Order: sequence, then C-alpha cells, then structure tokens
Amino acid sequence: MTSPRVNLLDFDADQMAAYVAGLNEKPFRAKQLMQWIHQRGVSDINDMSDLAKSFRATLLDKAEVLSLPVIKDEHAADGTRKWLLDVGAGNAVESVFIPEDDRGTLCISSQAGCAVNCRFCSTGHQGFSRNLTAGEIIGQLWFAEHLLRNDPNAIRRVEQYPTPGWEHTGRVISNVVLMGMGEPLLNYDNVVTALRLMLDDRAYGLSRRRVTVSTSGVVPMIDRLAQDCPVALAVSLHAPNDKLRDQLVPLNLKYPLRELLAACERYLPFAPRDFLTFEYCMLDGVNDSDIQAKELVRLLANIKCKINLIPFNPFPESGLKRSSAQRIHAFASILLDAGMVATVRKTRGDDIAAACGQLAGDVVDRTRVRERAVHEKQIQHDHEEAADSVDDEEEQEYQPEHPVQWLKRLDG
Ligand code: SF4
Repeated sequence: MTSPRVNLLDFDADQMAAYVAGLNEKPFRAKQLMQWIHQRGVSDINDMSDLAKSFRATLLDKAEVLSLPVIKDEHAADGTRKWLLDVGAGNAVESVFIPEDDRGTLCISSQAGCAVNCRFCSTGHQGFSRNLTAGEIIGQLWFAEHLLRNDPNAIRRVEQYPTPGWEHTGRVISNVVLMGMGEPLLNYDNVVTALRLMLDDRAYGLSRRRVTVSTSGVVPMIDRLAQDCPVALAVSLHAPNDKLRDQLVPLNLKYPLRELLAACERYLPFAPRDFLTFEYCMLDGVNDSDIQAKELVRLLANIKCKINLIPFNPFPESGLKRSSAQRIHAFASILLDAGMVATVRKTRGDDIAAACGQLAGDVVDRTRVRERAVHEKQIQHDHEEAADSVDDEEEQEYQPEHPVQWLKRLDG
C-alpha cells in the first residue's frame, strides 16, 4: 500500500527545511519550494522548473500542493467576494475578501463549525465538526491571493489606492483576519503554523500589524500566542459583565472576564499596535443600553484598546435582533464621551451573507447541537411552566439555550 502524499501547504519554513533534509536534499531546495508555492502560487510540481528533475520526481511521488476545492464563488455588489470551500465529509467553510480603499482584507476560517457556540453567531449554531489543518488554513490565503492577482478589478484597486509598504509587492491581500468560522485559539498549533507563513518573507511577508487573530477568550492560549507569534489580537467581548457574557459567549463560564482581561493586559506589551481590539455585537435590548455602555467604560478603563461595535447580522435561529442605528449611535457616544476609541463596523457583503457572524457554510451538525438545543428548549420550557405555576412573579431572565455542552467537548 502506498503512503498518502504530504501536503506541502502544511509546512512553515522550518518544517519545509526539515522535510527537504529528510529527502537528502540541500537546504536551498526548501527556499525554492516556498517561493514556488507561496510567492508564485504554483501547485503543479512539474511546473517548478528550477528544481532538479530527480527532486521533482521524488516530490511527485511523495508530495502535493493541495488547497480546498471551491464549491461556490459569490460576488457582492460592494466588491466583497465569498468562497465556500469543501473540507470533506459533507462540510464546508468560508473565506471572504473585503476590498476597501486602502486595503484588501481576507477573512479566513480556522475550524469547520465551532464548539464555543456564541448565542449571536451563525457558525456557533452549526456545531463543531473538526479543526482545519495548517494547509487548509493557509490554503485559503494561497488560493485567494493568487486568484485575485488575476482579477482586473482587484488589481485596479491596488493600483488606485496604494498602501505604504504594500504597493510594490504586487499582492492584492494586504490584511488577514482570522474571524471566519471557528475559534482560532482552539486549533492553536495549526493556526500558529499558518500565521508564521503569513509573516514569512519567503511566503506572504505580511506585517504583524496586518494579521489579526480574533478570539472569544481562550486565556491560556492568549498567553502562548504572545510568546509564539504575537500578531494583532481582537477579543470578542459582547457584554460588560459576567452574568450576561456567560449567556452570550459560553466560554466565559470557563474563563470569566477578570481572567480574560488580565490575559489581555499581559498580551499588550507584545501587541504589534500597542492596543487591543474588543468586538461588541450590538443586540437589541440585550447588551445595548446606556447603563451597559457605562459599565463597559468602567470595565475597559485600564486597557489600551479600541472597541469595535458590530451591528448584529440576524439569522433565524438566534431569536435576536439588531440594535437600531440610533441606539448604536447613543451607545458609541457614551464610549467616545468617556475618552474611549470606538468605531461602528460597516456591514459588508450583506447580499451574499458574508457579514460578520453570518458565516455558516454548510457544516454538517455532527455534534447534533440543533437537535439537542430543541430538546433542551423543550426541557427548559417544561421546567419554566412548572416553575411558573409555583411563582408567577419570578422575573423572566434572558436565557441561554444551551450554555455548557461545549465545555464538555472542550474538556474531553
Ligand atoms: S463568534 Fe467565533 S467563537 Fe463564537 S461561536 Fe462564532 S465562530 Fe465560534
């Protein structure tokens, strides 16, 4: 039986060097491979013309350059482009390219589905399927970068709005954010390998300031990231206190705000832009009151940060609504008046469901989250009916549908 070929996209520079050494080839062959694959976007080993014929024959036998097959390629009216990518076994993930005047940002996924199960997130409602490999993560950048280099619209935009340090590279993607499907820090090793490739001059050469990891707050891994690969950090906060955050971001049950913010303070000296970003999804009547804005000011008073207010993108299963534009404005004003840096995120790609929190792909619900949620909702409903009959006056609280099952998966 022949052993499966290795995917050369899985290797960062050191791993590629080790692989090439294992084939008894000289170290410069690893550099050549990195350039062919990541800088020139070549996947056919036969086309890597300056590799010795014998080396190419060895590689053809043992290796390949394999990115995720594209199921769907959608273009939004505002230039946003979204790809649905096949990760096998009936699952798919999404990547989104967001062109702006001074940058081209690629939002990529790190897991098929997500176990964290944030209340307002479409991906979370799909359940968790599996971690993506390093090759599947960097493969999203590899694919999009080399595809867009042949897209006249994308090229024109780069030429029209050159960004310092980016205009001479011929690259279309200037920024990468790990804000697609999945919690990046729960797929740590593969994510860090992919990050190293993004920063490596022999691959994509992006600056640390232009690569952002977004996390829901995996505290020990925030500390590890500071040591291993300190790129820009965005924290999905969404609530100014533990009581509400426990319900919106169930990871808060494991790492409450006190621990999360302490980890953020420890990360700051390593952060490439000397501030962190906190994301706050604006949910009508849930987390958007004046009182909660003031609470947020107090919570973040000692951390150098920017708060990114994100208008919620509704999806049917959430049962939540977007805060009105006036409410978002009033909330932002309280933050700004208190001297905080706050922005309201523009929604992009609405017409192709490419906006934040809308990335759900077609992930098979392997963890049967939906089925269990319906079951738990029924139990909760029965329980509430019984409780109501005992005490009709008890205050109705905002209830999470399924707050702890992910913890068991996380610990298991
Ligand atoms: S917001 Fe992020 S961490 Fe939370 S469920 Fe969605 S993908 Fe997972």
